[in-house]
Amino acid sequence: MSAERNLTRKFIFEEADIRGEIVHLDSSYRDILAIHAYPAGVARQLGEFLAAAVLLSTTIKFEGRLILQAQGGGELPLLMAECSNKLEVRAIARGAESATATEFGALFGAGHLAITIEPHEGQRYQGIVSLDSGSLAGCIERYFENSEQLATRLWLASDGKVAAGLLLQQLPEQVTRDGEQRAAQWEHACTLAETVEREEVLNLEQETLLYRLFHEDKVSLFAGESVRFACSCSRERCHNALLSIGPTELLKLLDEEPEVTMDCEFCNTQYRFQRSDFTAQLGDTSSGALH
Ligand SMILES: [Zn+2]
Repeated sequence: MSAERNLTRKFIFEEADIRGEIVHLDSSYRDILAIHAYPAGVARQLGEFLAAAVLLSTTIKFEGRLILQAQGGGELPLLMAECSNKLEVRAIARGAESATATEFGALFGAGHLAITIEPHEGQRYQGIVSLDSGSLAGCIERYFENSEQLATRLWLASDGKVAAGLLLQQLPEQVTRDGEQRAAQWEHACTLAETVEREEVLNLEQETLLYRLFHEDKVSLFAGESVRFACSCSRERCHNALLSIGPTELLKLLDEEPEVTMDCEFCNTQYRFQRSDFTAQLGDTSSGALH
């Protein structure tokens, strides 16, 4: 058993226009699983979603987050994982307390996967792909194919304790300009990566895994960046959400209940609000005064 990693590392092929990313999540994944009691199959899918969110987020060059959200008609109606540009992850599965399936297709049934890139400022971007590719990696690969973006392949694995993944992505022409040679190099890298075993993705050290797959090629592996579980919820956001229901409704709510509580389902934090928390916005009127 290796030490805690919670690391993502970039690598590049020096003689081809191909980049890669390799991620291992240990305690960051287990911290998320500790919040809710998920069935084993759901916990494993959640791990793959987290690993994929980290791998895909590493292409984001602005402040914001990448969100993977699957909505299906099967035993697992909703699974969502996010990774921010600071490599903070969180995830949630909803409505799957009694799921018994373990396979992707059986868990999700028919539905779709939304890949959303949400900058703190500016336009949010969303791509949608159907969930019928048999695995999360398959769905994401098809999304890249359909949207005519850079060719991208992923290998994901998760066992309820560790979540891990490997990504290969073809880069725009730089090292190789010949189209046939580019295609052959991409094919070569993917064929080698195809030989990877699930256990190797989960358990091998990152250097060892890359050597095992690509020792014939010149590959540079960069320093790792830490990934951690952190929720973006806050008291301020909940406060604003309550204000957004409007002053009349909010006063009615605070009249009915001495305390209004909001629970964050991602991290289980409970935020409690009373009439006095809204004095600045609603004025100092005693309860009922605005009726
Ligand atoms: Zn939270």
